[in-house]
Amino acid sequence: MRQQKMLIPTLRDVPGDAEAASHRLMLRAGLIRQLSSGIYSYLPLGLKALQHIQTIVREELDAAGAQEMLMPALHPSELWKSSGRWDVYGPELMRLEDRHGREFALGATHEEVITTIVKDEIQSYKKLPVTLYQIQTKFRDERRPRFGLLRGREFIMKDAYSFDKTATGLDESYQRMYNAYDRIFTRCGLNFRAVEADSGAMGGTDTHEFMALADIGEDTIVHCPSCHYAANLEKAVGQLPPSSIAASKQPELDGRPEKVHTPQAASIKQLSEFLRIPPERIIKSVAVSANGVPVIVLLRGDCEVNEIKTKNVIGVSELTMLSESEIQKMGSVAGFIGPIGLQNVKIIADFSVRGMENAVVGANEADYHLTQVVAQRDLAGLTYHDLRNAAEGDCCASCGHELAFVKGIEVGHVFKLGTKYSRSLGAVFSDENGVSEPLIMGCYGIGVSRVLAAIIEQNYDERGILWPASIAPFVIHLLTVQVQDETQMKLSQEIYTSLTGAGYAVLWDDREERPGVKFNDSDLLGFPLRITVGKKAAENIVECKERRSGHQDEITVAQILTHCQ
Ligand code: ATP
Ligand code: MG
Ligand code: MG
Ligand code: MG
Repeated sequence: MRQQKMLIPTLRDVPGDAEAASHRLMLRAGLIRQLSSGIYSYLPLGLKALQHIQTIVREELDAAGAQEMLMPALHPSELWKSSGRWDVYGPELMRLEDRHGREFALGATHEEVITTIVKDEIQSYKKLPVTLYQIQTKFRDERRPRFGLLRGREFIMKDAYSFDKTATGLDESYQRMYNAYDRIFTRCGLNFRAVEADSGAMGGTDTHEFMALADIGEDTIVHCPSCHYAANLEKAVGQLPPSSIAASKQPELDGRPEKVHTPQAASIKQLSEFLRIPPERIIKSVAVSANGVPVIVLLRGDCEVNEIKTKNVIGVSELTMLSESEIQKMGSVAGFIGPIGLQNVKIIADFSVRGMENAVVGANEADYHLTQVVAQRDLAGLTYHDLRNAAEGDCCASCGHELAFVKGIEVGHVFKLGTKYSRSLGAVFSDENGVSEPLIMGCYGIGVSRVLAAIIEQNYDERGILWPASIAPFVIHLLTVQVQDETQMKLSQEIYTSLTGAGYAVLWDDREERPGVKFNDSDLLGFPLRITVGKKAAENIVECKERRSGHQDEITVAQILTHCQ
């Protein structure tokens, strides 16, 4: 392509509000533009890179036996009501009404839609197993859309769903997808780790997240430098021996700990009924004991809750209200404690409530939770550090080596769903004996647009992007220093023709700009190889420079093709 004609609006200055390196670089290199908070357009270069990721995803999923399809983004509310998620999903689900007043959701995920299709179209074991996927735009009204494509409100996801006859079948489908993810992220040039994750409110058993390692990441990975163990922080804390928590926290306890049953997930609807407050006021339930008593519920705004029955839970009666600003402060905390609260963990949360003591909820042994009230402590910087402290200095359960922490970006997630959706939506098949059984499902997501940002987050220097060749919008940047110089233009044209003829994706900077501008833009765009046609064009000599290493050579035109290989 000739750059003169292409829409590549590079910016010299870093836009003020862009915090993440990938966000700044994507704006500066003219890959994306923002339309509204968390909503972006992909300009030609951005789209090319995105398409390269999509091609890799398709190739690997097709090779793993999955079939591509495409589902609607607009979902009738009845569908989400029948799975129970219309109420449970909360404010992240974008909702709208049509002209007849019928309610719809913009698809945040597609378990309901795919399960309905498979329910209607697959009745016999003979058609199983099957894995279906799509690459599609998802909508989530994220509370804090940020970091550009890393957390959007409209973003591109690859979501896949497997349907099996047996639990063993699901294990195999899951493993196939897991392996495909390994290949996909490797081909994308990402430095990543697959980590054990917490199955939390989704139900199900096994789940792994694929984390691209980067400081900007919002997740914390606990890993063992000497063996293969890696888990996200929530999961890791859940796996530590109780003694480590006691040692790291040493809270001043007042009040005798009392055992309550393991918390379980309760739907926002159930909680809303139990607490007699509107469901939209409930942000998240952290833990609910087996008899339905909420241990911690995060509430939105200024609602008083007086009805919490706390017979079994010491001290939590004080937990009546959180102001909006307290919730704001808890922002990052809320992300952690949701899933943790639904597992057998040691420390769930530690926060103060207006004028009250802090509540600490923990678990000291399998299947039991302890709930205690400890003395007032500062709200700021709490649970994350508490969790971290709880795991810090701890040793790997498999090999004894001290555990380490890194930050990660969740680029993919594989999940054994089991029969949660097939049961609620009635998706059954008849087995070899004609017996009707629920389909056993797995779901598998990749944040395709997030992967693009994560790749840049791991590949840049002070001058711009350093694209991995597999994703680069163009592999070669051909730069003509003086476009008025006929010799330079003629030679450039020859090189362009021969490189494109040989199958290389070449962007030819044929713009009438000062050389300084062209070289700066070229570094910013960051394609793997630059070929500069300048003063030595008359001698058939050009400069060839590797963007990443900075290594440069003067070569003859005849050497170009061999040099590019
Ligand atoms: P997160 O924990 O970051 O909010 P999630 O666990 O809610 O992500 P999943 O429901 O597992 O996300 O969705 C599958 C994949 O979609 C994620 O692994 C991630 O790569 C991507 N994804 C999720 N939310 C966003 C978003 N707001 N913007 C971009 N990509 C996203
Ligand atoms: Mg999310
Ligand atoms: Mg997540
Ligand atoms: Mg996830």
